[in-house]
Amino acid sequence: MKNVNDYLHKHVLVIGLAKSGLAAAKLLHRLGANVTVNDVKATEEDTSVKELTSMGIKVVGGGHPLSLIDENPVDLVVKNPGIPYSNPLIARAIEKKLPVITEVELAYKISEADIIAITGSNGKTTTTTLIYEMLKEDQKQPLIAGNIGTVACEVAQNATKENVIVMELSSFQLLGTIEFKPAIALILNIFDAHLDYHGTKEEYAYAKGKIYENQTTGDVSIINKNDEEVCTLSETSNAQKIYFSTSSFLEDGVCIKDDSIWFKGDEIIKVKDIVLPGVHNLENILAAVAAVKLRGVSNEAIYKVLTTFQGVKHRLQYVDSVDGRRFYNDSKATNILATSKALQAFTSPTILLAGGLDRGNEFDDMKPYLENVKAMILFGETAPKLERIAKERGIEHIKRVDNVEKAVSAAFNVSEIDDVILLSPACASWDQYKTFEERGDIFIQAVHKLN
Ligand code: ADP
Repeated sequence: MKNVNDYLHKHVLVIGLAKSGLAAAKLLHRLGANVTVNDVKATEEDTSVKELTSMGIKVVGGGHPLSLIDENPVDLVVKNPGIPYSNPLIARAIEKKLPVITEVELAYKISEADIIAITGSNGKTTTTTLIYEMLKEDQKQPLIAGNIGTVACEVAQNATKENVIVMELSSFQLLGTIEFKPAIALILNIFDAHLDYHGTKEEYAYAKGKIYENQTTGDVSIINKNDEEVCTLSETSNAQKIYFSTSSFLEDGVCIKDDSIWFKGDEIIKVKDIVLPGVHNLENILAAVAAVKLRGVSNEAIYKVLTTFQGVKHRLQYVDSVDGRRFYNDSKATNILATSKALQAFTSPTILLAGGLDRGNEFDDMKPYLENVKAMILFGETAPKLERIAKERGIEHIKRVDNVEKAVSAAFNVSEIDDVILLSPACASWDQYKTFEERGDIFIQAVHKLN
């Protein structure tokens, strides 16, 4: 660890006791800070609360009392990324000009290892996993952090100079950074997601852009040449810039030429040898190639991963075939762009299972991609909105059902041999399910029950 004395005797208020809050509180305590944790839901019976109190950390549950800031010394606030800035306690901290960070900032401050940071609206987990697998294949000692792995500050505590941390970052996490400066930073794409949290697309883009903000000449920004907004965000970056593109030739970047992937004039792999389906995944692959080539990974290691990697669970995951119908679980597709990409990966007649949490947007942007869709089975809060576009598009079968399980049997009933039955909801799951993973697992179970 580096900067170990930066938090000594500091008064730190950790707001939100999820996995990241727990990890941050424990780390700060270890670094000699006076830590208080606040979480509305915390009770004395919780194992995490017991663990913290046994270490001498004060845990305040049942609300967000302003007295925590007004009547106690506070030097730093570490917030859970999901807690909005409108939360009264966070608002008070900002009013008092206290630094408010997410645990990612802590991870950066203490990490001895270089960080490869990945963000974007879609493709983060896939690209993070690809980068990690390629580095691992070439014995570069990578550590993975973020949504798929362990909490970043926990990973960073144990990292040495020999390691490299591959870190998936959301806009929520990035908004809570101050000095965060990754050696390699990548924005895959920008799409207007999470408007309920960020309010405007500009603020969302600003949060994503923070990944490049502090980079200097020794660092590298990886940029999607096909995404205008990403290019704009990178304009102020002082780092070396590497572009990738699925459509234009880039002599100094990563691109596709003569059906092969090229990095700075070096042929890496024929596109036909890649296992992962979908044009969107090609973007993720180009970005991953850029990142790992910068770390000296061999073409052989990249080739090995791309000819074996089948994708991450719940992301266009092939589940099974039942009576000649192929089922795919893309439960992670929680916005229109993701679902549009999934639809483009198939040429067979498709039955789309969609719907979920209503974030206030309409679905008209999805219409052009419904060309092969013969039926839409809809559930969740957004079912009426999706039904409208299905009708406008003249889809043959439209049915509303109560949940994903019922959607599977309804889809099977209207299906024919060689159809694709695709769960790609275009919405978050939280109106009916705890997580997108739970929604995907229910889909998988329902498919297996058909056999
Ligand atoms: P994230 O972690 O950003 O949510 P994932 O890798 O988990 O991204 O993929 C989520 C979904 O987004 C996938 O199921 C796929 O449909 C879609 N997707 C993946 N990569 C891209 C991309 N580069 N562009 C657009 N959509 C993508």
